[in-house]
Amino acid sequence: MTTINENFLLLQKNYLFADIARRVNAYRQAHPEADLISLGIGDVTRPLAPAVIEALHRATEEMADGTSFRGYGPEHGYEFLREAIARHDFAPRGITLDTDEIFINDGAKSDTGNFGDILGSGNTICVTDPIYPVYIDSNVMGGRAGVFDGNSWSRITYSPCNEANDFVPALPEHPADLIYLCYPNNPTGTVLGRAELKKWVDYALQNGSIILFDAAYEAYISSPGIPHSIYEIEGAERCAVEFRSYSKTAGFTGLRCGYTVVPKALTVKTTAGEEVSLNQLWNRRQCTKFNGTAYIVQRAAEAIYSPEGRQQVRETIGYYMTNARIMREALAESGFKVRGGTDAPYLWVKTPEGTGSWEFFEQLLTQARIVCTPGVGFGPAGEGYIRLTAFGRRKDCETAMQRLKERTGRQV
Ligand SMILES: *Cc1c(COP(=O)(O)O)cnc(C)c1O
Repeated sequence: MTTINENFLLLQKNYLFADIARRVNAYRQAHPEADLISLGIGDVTRPLAPAVIEALHRATEEMADGTSFRGYGPEHGYEFLREAIARHDFAPRGITLDTDEIFINDGAKSDTGNFGDILGSGNTICVTDPIYPVYIDSNVMGGRAGVFDGNSWSRITYSPCNEANDFVPALPEHPADLIYLCYPNNPTGTVLGRAELKKWVDYALQNGSIILFDAAYEAYISSPGIPHSIYEIEGAERCAVEFRSYSKTAGFTGLRCGYTVVPKALTVKTTAGEEVSLNQLWNRRQCTKFNGTAYIVQRAAEAIYSPEGRQQVRETIGYYMTNARIMREALAESGFKVRGGTDAPYLWVKTPEGTGSWEFFEQLLTQARIVCTPGVGFGPAGEGYIRLTAFGRRKDCETAMQRLKERTGRQV
């Protein structure tokens, strides 16, 4: 008789975005004339850079010609892209990577989830809280999360990030084998400095833990001195895997491309005491379960590293970060405590005294016709906050902030 992976039955329904949609729809039905502005979306809105579009056209033409047509490519990605990554994303920061330490994929969500395939089910886990839900749910599927008590999972250690610790997570109180760090952070928009990141690398090296470092928002860092890669920290090549994505960097959310760095120096001991290379294991896993990212998409990603591509991508990021600045300033003027928006396209806004995340969501919806994301949807430590994104259109950001100011004005 067939059985299923019953870990899937343990998954909590992700009510967050369904709940938001339900409440927004109810409001729309009651107020069909209301011009709602969504600042809740985590998707980009600007079109792809011209250099990317040109590369897509060129690669498509190659596919149309029998002499340049490409079928299956290497599972871990074409050398032209891996070389461009090593040369442009890492070498300038003093990090030397061999191209076979870089695995091209169809986005960071897949690999942050899939990486659990090569890790034992007995590993204990630490996440910062609030957090991108994929890390937790993929570990529930892998049988590593334990039981859910309505608030948190028994085998996951949550390291809260809030005002009390200035959004700097403390090292885990219970031993953790797998540590998920996402910096710049979604949803809080905060970053970790070199000294803070070093504490985590040192902890991992001392305890034989692995850090799964999600750097999907690396391109948004503007503050000097903030590490863009975990490999800027000494010893990280022996304890960390890094995930990058072109989704937010270059608007590839619909095209699908990213990459994972698994250094060859990263080894884990088997129960028999034998050192095993995670790079080899991951390569084996990818060769069996993945057949590579589309050739034309990898050419599109390569185009981001051309001088024009870099310039165009910078401009788009600049557009979003100008939105972020406008929003941050307006929120501060309206008396809100805001984090993020300087090194990440997210603003993490503290709700007015004692107001719950969902209660404030309702207030913004009904009083200012703004849709946000309630912070508690990202974990228990998100209660009392909301997330706004800077990925919208400029006009919408400006109108939304104007409404916020008017709303506060009325209240005072
Ligand atoms: C958007 C996002 C990603 C990128 O996911 P893709 O699958 O590459 O589109 C990864 N991590 C976090 C935290 C994100 O917010």
